[in-house]
Amino acid sequence: MAKLYFRYGAMNSGKSTALLQAAYNYEERGQRVLLAKPAIDSKGEASILSRLGVARPVDFTIDASDDVYALFERERAKLRARTGDDVSCLLIDEVQFLSEGQVDDLLRIAIQEGVPVLAYGIRTDFQTVAFPGSRRLLEIAHSLEELKTICRCGRKAVFNARKIDGRFVFDGDQVAIDTTGAAVGEVTYESLCGACYLEESGGVLNSGYKPKVEFSYGSGPDPDFS
Ligand SMILES: [Zn+2]
Repeated sequence: MAKLYFRYGAMNSGKSTALLQAAYNYEERGQRVLLAKPAIDSKGEASILSRLGVARPVDFTIDASDDVYALFERERAKLRARTGDDVSCLLIDEVQFLSEGQVDDLLRIAIQEGVPVLAYGIRTDFQTVAFPGSRRLLEIAHSLEELKTICRCGRKAVFNARKIDGRFVFDGDQVAIDTTGAAVGEVTYESLCGACYLEESGGVLNSGYKPKVEFSYGSGPDPDFS
């Protein structure tokens, strides 16, 4: 049975690079793949862009209101008409921006169509809250795999802290990518471990919840790092 895989990590954990490598591995064996990503993610336009400089156009983009199952079937039919081959794998980048219903479609594609789906994305937003699509993947994916990256302190980074014009911010909308308007400032992100995130936020997690006791930053080895 084909499976739905969720490969998640903080920003800069090499998700797009891993996706392009997985696509290459299929094609090296003479198999066909389809690449997709949400239309909301505008960086690199309709391409998947790895930090190593490799870029590749996607076969289709997914709008917020799209029926992903129908889109997949349409693209699969086009691939068959063009090459005579069926698709061996569906790969999706920035999957956190899909809706919960669209993620349900990914599971249906894997199980009902027998096509493995590799979904790459970020687990939580800049306030440490799961994106709806990522939460659904954590609930229903057959396989969860964490792609690791390192915090500035050397621990494993798990959170994505937002900066505007280089200063950390902990309030705002869940999605703010490629915002370069002068009024708002340039939005960037830094991948942080839990300790560094809490140090920068003053102990704030989850949409402004304030702890009753003042947060004190403790240093030392992180037993969870692997
Ligand atoms: Zn850290």
